[in-house]
Amino acid sequence: MEPAPPIDLRTHLSKVPGLNKRDLDSLALLGLTNVGRLIAHLPLRHESLESESAISSLEADRLCATRGEIAATRVARARGRSPARFEAALTDDTGRLDLVWFNQPYLANRLHPGARIRVQGKTKRRGLGLQMVNPIYELIAESGGEPALREARVRPVYPLAEGVHQRHIEKALELTLDAALPHIEDHLPSSYRAERELPTLADAYRMIHRPGTDADVAAAHRRLAYDELLLLQLGVQMRRARLREGLIAPPLRADAKVDEHIRRRIPFTLTDAQNRVVAEIVSDLARPIPTNRLIQGDVGSGKTVIAAYAMLMAVASGHQAAMMVPTEILAEQHFDSLSRMLAGSKVSIAMLTGSTPASERAATLDALASGTIDLLVGTHALLTETVRFRSLAVAIIDEQHRFGVHQRARMRAKAEDATSTPHVLVMTATPIPRTLAITIFGDLDVSTIDALPPGRKPVKTALFGRAQRSLVYEQVKRRIDRGEQAFIVVPAIGDTVSGSVGEEPESGATTAHALTQELSLPESPLAGVTIATLHGRLPHAERERIMDAFRAGSIQALVATTVIEVGVDIPNATIIAIEDADRFGLAQLHQLRGRVGRGKKPSVCMLIADPVTPEGAERLKALTSTTDGFKLAETDFLLRGPGELFGARQSGSMPLKVADLTRDLDLLSLARHDAAAWIKRSPTLSQPGEALLVRRLKLAFGDELGLADVG
Ligand code: ADP
Ligand code: MG
Repeated sequence: MEPAPPIDLRTHLSKVPGLNKRDLDSLALLGLTNVGRLIAHLPLRHESLESESAISSLEADRLCATRGEIAATRVARARGRSPARFEAALTDDTGRLDLVWFNQPYLANRLHPGARIRVQGKTKRRGLGLQMVNPIYELIAESGGEPALREARVRPVYPLAEGVHQRHIEKALELTLDAALPHIEDHLPSSYRAERELPTLADAYRMIHRPGTDADVAAAHRRLAYDELLLLQLGVQMRRARLREGLIAPPLRADAKVDEHIRRRIPFTLTDAQNRVVAEIVSDLARPIPTNRLIQGDVGSGKTVIAAYAMLMAVASGHQAAMMVPTEILAEQHFDSLSRMLAGSKVSIAMLTGSTPASERAATLDALASGTIDLLVGTHALLTETVRFRSLAVAIIDEQHRFGVHQRARMRAKAEDATSTPHVLVMTATPIPRTLAITIFGDLDVSTIDALPPGRKPVKTALFGRAQRSLVYEQVKRRIDRGEQAFIVVPAIGDTVSGSVGEEPESGATTAHALTQELSLPESPLAGVTIATLHGRLPHAERERIMDAFRAGSIQALVATTVIEVGVDIPNATIIAIEDADRFGLAQLHQLRGRVGRGKKPSVCMLIADPVTPEGAERLKALTSTTDGFKLAETDFLLRGPGELFGARQSGSMPLKVADLTRDLDLLSLARHDAAAWIKRSPTLSQPGEALLVRRLKLAFGDELGLADVG
């Protein structure tokens, strides 16, 4: 027989002595065709295995492990309140242990009498013997020498596919890992690793696949997660440097006189937090480099005035500014408040939305192109081809989480003159945990408004079951009697026309029309109150009329869908009731709650729901326990994971496989810092010794970050 070729990372698994056709076919189902891929197939998690004892020496109420032969099995069907059970008797030379699994009757097809298994779980006393409930189990191979009773150890659990078993992966690793490890090259120099107490890449792979202890797993995870985050940060920061390279933005005048002129128009004193952000923006805008900044501030923290400040800086230097918002209602509100703020000045403002009549639109487009309009507020209608500016210097995107990353690029492209790029500011009230923001918006600077304007009282939030609805509406009535106003939010509109996306969730939801009718009945607590219904399907003029009347106070209660979710600012509204609250997401509920508590009067948010899922209940509980959007965002993040934040709207799929942003935040900041220093040292990563790093960077994130030409 010809000797087997030595094993390295490229060795095809079919060349590995000891792997049979079944093994190879199974591994191929996971795309594992060569040794390198096999080693890169990382465990999902690790489970700790207790050391095994003989059955007779097991003690009650302890986590323990043993092995034996299945003597008998029985399936008990679900009956009344008791769930289906699968029971097995496990025996060894010393005794008998009862095993029981709930709700897993299919185990009868896997665990047959005569099979040998290893089990681990908590023991309980039952009659004279012991019982183990829902133990984890492992079939012990019938052929091929059974290993002796095991010592305590940590076992990797691999992601599998239909028809692939743990043991296929374990066996293949057994046969290749030792030979392959010495071939794993490290892209980090040893002194660099030493400073950060990181193991070599080879050691990391050894420990992740074959850990001795939990500490091995942690060290391996730390290295692999660090690598992933470092590569991501290098990619993101290089892309950002490149985006800025060669681009010129109009440097804006930023002197005391401009500042004074702008502040004179602001009807209140800026808070310290606002002043800090203004200072950051002023220094950005004064430079000839295009600004790309995210302004993050909780609902009601006062972001609009920051936008106004930046826009007026453009005007003070003879340029134009534009602000894009996600809803027409918000466009109208910003347009009105800017108009009020600038009443009597020479600054001219226009609005452009999908509802702007054609003739008005044509006139606005002309005026923008010739430069007679200074400020433009609008919806995504701003992005249409035909919208051209004479000299756009500042572009603002409000409620950025409602837009995609592409819109930001299109907004930037709005600068007519190819030699000049506008400064871009994006604002969001959906607080994204800061570290996450850094990752997602890696090409943005981040400013945070971390305090609310003075005199705000935290909104009190309470949860009511549907049976207590009348209590809620009695509260609403009391507020209205005091001259305050109310939002009442429902998840659906409630007629048969199919509506815009997001306004018509599953059936059974309380609808705007039905609720308005109900609340207007003579026996309703709100009988006699002026109520209007607002939703996205109303004609534009009607919506505007209703919002104006609500703002003026002649409408006392507004039954609305989520069209009012973002941005709407009516400080006299002090109570918001949310029907079927469990149908909304946590971030959405926090936004909705942010519609009240925007003035000095104490405000309340009343959630009406009988949540049917534990997750729904959890969300509502979180909302009642804090008004801190930052904390809620972190809760949301923990409940749902970061996946949703990386949804299609943000930046495509979640790019991280090993690092877990809910856990590895300290590693993220280390990697971010290290990446910045690295790029400073070697801006194009083309120094000798960096080739491997660059190859891995492109492999990991090249597509996502468009890094084809790096290195
Ligand atoms: P958001 O950050 O949610 O966009 P807004 O900009 O709409 O918040 O501001 C919320 C409310 O707070 C508005 O009524 C605004 O006029 C008011 N406001 C903002 N800043 C201040 C301040 N420094 N002092 C007093 N009121 C302020
Ligand atoms: Mg706002």
